[in-house]
Amino acid sequence: MSLTAASSHRNVYNCVMFCNNNNVIITPLYEVDALVTLVDKIEHSKNLIREAIKKYPRIAVAVSWGKDSMVLLHLVRQIKPDIPVFTVITPFKPKETLEFKDRIIKEWNLNIKEYRSKEKPIPGLWKTNPDECCRIFKVEPTKEAVKDLDAWISGLRKTEGRTRRDYQEIEKRGNLVKINPLLEWTELDIWRYSALYNVPQNPLYKKGYRSLGCEPCTTIVDDNEPERAGRWRGTSKCGGECGIHTKILK
Ligand code: SF4
Repeated sequence: MSLTAASSHRNVYNCVMFCNNNNVIITPLYEVDALVTLVDKIEHSKNLIREAIKKYPRIAVAVSWGKDSMVLLHLVRQIKPDIPVFTVITPFKPKETLEFKDRIIKEWNLNIKEYRSKEKPIPGLWKTNPDECCRIFKVEPTKEAVKDLDAWISGLRKTEGRTRRDYQEIEKRGNLVKINPLLEWTELDIWRYSALYNVPQNPLYKKGYRSLGCEPCTTIVDDNEPERAGRWRGTSKCGGECGIHTKILK
């Protein structure tokens, strides 16, 4: 079988392949994702970031101290090193994540603001009503973080899990635009980029975690499970969303 035309950009949807008998096969892009090189993805993501920074002067990057946001931050800082960054810190963040955050803020000299809920943690709420817990400790502080912004940049990726398949690279929700420059990146792309460019990563990955959140709501997943399957495991929210990507923030 020989390949005669393939997409290297996500806005071309099909790949045309000719088999030995000259039958033509049109393959949807998601089935030939391996043909899109990491170099293409990096260039595409940087272009998105560049255009967004040009178009929206009041823009910031959200960082959660997981692998995707570290790659995102690394890319964005190549274009605008002093870009405003924000992070939402809940009372339940693992200590490894907090230490990693402090280290990166210092080493990368980040122009960062941290947002925290003023409410006291309610024991066990993460288990009995995780949506409410996330609303208080994640969604409301994020609303505060974006209230003076026109746009924010997030590290969301499509292949992370079942709830992330239908996003767009540029989304408008309410009065706020969100840019998802890593939307088409795979978990492997993130690790390849991190290795190639020496991007520091949260030490919790060395313990086997694949997706990081608050300590009580993050468990290790098997290789054959989706990346986010360990989030909110055992609750109604398993593998789901905290709400910052689904609610209207402004
Ligand atoms: S991830 Fe868990 S602990 Fe963190 S805010 Fe949501 S429910 Fe609460």
